[in-house]
This record gives sequence, structure tokens and C-alpha cells, in this order.
Amino acid sequence: CAKSAGRSNFQLFTPGMLKQAEEKLVMGTALRHAIEHHELEVYYQPEISLWDGTVIGMEALARWPNGLNGVAVTPDRFIPVAEETGLILQLGEWVLRTACRDCAAMENRLGRRMRVAVNVSTRQFQQKEWPTVVRRALEESGLQPHSLEIEITESMLMQNTEESAEMLHALRRLGVTVVVDDFGTGYSSLSYLTRFPIDKIKIDRSFVRDLDTDAADAAVINAIIAMAHSLDIRVVAEGVETEQQQNYLRARACDEAQGLRYSQAVSIDELQSVMAKIEAHRLRHLRCQALTA
Ligand code: C2E
Ligand code: MG
Ligand code: MG
Ligand code: MG
Repeated sequence: CAKSAGRSNFQLFTPGMLKQAEEKLVMGTALRHAIEHHELEVYYQPEISLWDGTVIGMEALARWPNGLNGVAVTPDRFIPVAEETGLILQLGEWVLRTACRDCAAMENRLGRRMRVAVNVSTRQFQQKEWPTVVRRALEESGLQPHSLEIEITESMLMQNTEESAEMLHALRRLGVTVVVDDFGTGYSSLSYLTRFPIDKIKIDRSFVRDLDTDAADAAVINAIIAMAHSLDIRVVAEGVETEQQQNYLRARACDEAQGLRYSQAVSIDELQSVMAKIEAHRLRHLRCQALTA
């Protein structure tokens, strides 16, 4: 180990680091192969209006079912590898185009409007031609721009402030909705909410998780909602798992919720029946309320 080798013997890699680097190399190679052979999938998690309980949108989440040696790999592991290897550009564009196409088809089937939220990485966001990629995805799918939401993170706003603002304005000009994901986890100041054109924020699930037991988390959530609404920014809560959490958020006028309370992410084929179940549950709930009123 590095210590027994003595101070003078400088080691660049510890065995652990070497193993990690090796794993990344293996995963990068497998990921490239998977992308080229269309082995990735896009799953969708419903987003629910807390105002009326209907499903008004869905978040597109990348899946790699056969992963490494046939074992699924989660996006928390393969997205960072995609970012480091540059594969994220190809992967991200494919997710975007698939999401736009699936959402347009879903709108046709339902006969009403749906929205789809797509996560983007820094590397994509920094491409000058990225607004063109978005415009093409909309055009080829026929999806209305207002049905598309782009999810960025706080850290993306903090790097290259000027360029980020320009990028967000370009998206706005296309008519696309700008969402800040994992809100509250970055080190950034809240003042950026007034400096950038932001339509919506998604409260990170770490604040929602302990809502019932942690008064500080509840206070942070109250403050976020109040502040966002005063700036005319809509609020979504992610990671909503219990009825208690839902009721708390609804009482604070949080606009939307997403989480295991409603559904995990599912394939586009399963989505319609999952939506029907969520909305049937809501109707039962409303009837119960009417009976007890
Ligand atoms: P995210 O954008 O914050 O997505 C929400 C994550 O929370 C998803 O994990 C979702 O499955 C999970 N989740 C939703 N509801 C609950 C809940 O009630 N409880 C718990 N414990 N978890 C819940 P997932 O699908 O594993 O994705 C993880 C992250 O990977 C995403 O976080 C996003 O940052 C990234 N990611 C996924 N797909 C893409 C993609 O196509 N492009 C990019 N750039 N990133 C992606
Ligand atoms: Mg997201
Ligand atoms: Mg998130
Ligand atoms: Mg995230």
C-alpha cells in the first residue's frame, strides 16, 4: 500500500483507483456497444398535478437493461461514464428524440396534452448547436415546444454564467420549458432564480424524504415554494413516497409531484395503464371526500 512504500515513494495510483479506472474503461466500451446496438431504453415516470390529481407529464429516464454481463446498470453509474467518455452527446440526443416521439404519440392516443421532461448534461448544454438539436427533435416528432421540458442542474448555471443564460434564452425562444432539477443540493445562491429564465424547479428528493420527521427539511421546502411562487416559478417535488408527504406538499401549494407513491418509471407501453390507475385512484378519493363532506 501507499503508506508502507514510504514517503519518498510517490504513488500515482492505489490498487483501488486502478480497479475503478479499469471498471470505467470496461463500462465505457460496453456502453458504446450498447448505444450502437440500440440496447438502451427510455422509461417514463409520471408527474402528477397536486391541484387535481391528474397525470400531466412524464420524466424520461435512460435505462440499460442488459448492462454489464447481462446485469442492468443504473443511470447513476452509466451517465457519469457517458459524460467522461463523451458518449453523452450521442446518448442524450437519442433520449431527447425518443422522448419527443413517444410524447407526441401519447398525446395522440390520449387526445389531450402531455409533457415530457428530458435531463441534459453539461457537455450537451455547452454545445453551441444544441438548440438546433432540440429544434430538430421537435420538428421530426411533431411535438409542440410547450410539451417539452429541459431539466438542467444548478451547477450548470454556475459554470459559464453568460453562456448558460444565452442557452436558456435560446430554449425559451423555441418555446421549451426550463426546469432546474435536484433543486437545493447545489452550492449556488438563490439569486440565480431571478437572473436566469427559469420556469420551474424540482425540489430534490433528499428534502422530501424526511419531511415528516425533520422540521428543518419541512422549513426549507416551505421557503422554496414561497420564494418560487413569488417569482412566478412552478414547483415540483420529487421522491414523493407517502400520502403524508403528498398532503403536506399539497397544503403548501406545491404544484406537482413525482415519486413511488404514484409510480416508478415504466416503459412507454405500460405508461397508459399506469396513468389510468393513478387517475382512477384519484376519482375514488374524490368520491370518498364527497361522501364524507
Ligand atoms: P433525476 O433526474 O433526479 O431523476 C429522478 C430519479 O429519482 C430517478 O432515478 C427516479 O427513478 C428516482 N425516483 C423517482 N421517484 C422516487 C422515489 O419516490 N423514491 C426514490 N428513492 N427514488 C425515486 P434514475 O432513473 O435512477 O436516474 C438517476 C439520475 O440519472 C437522474 O436523476 C438523472 O440525473 C440521471 N439520468 C437518467 N436518465 C438520464 C438521461 O437520459 N440523461 C441525463 N443526462 N441524465 C439522466
Ligand atoms: Mg431529472
Ligand atoms: Mg432530480
Ligand atoms: Mg439528477
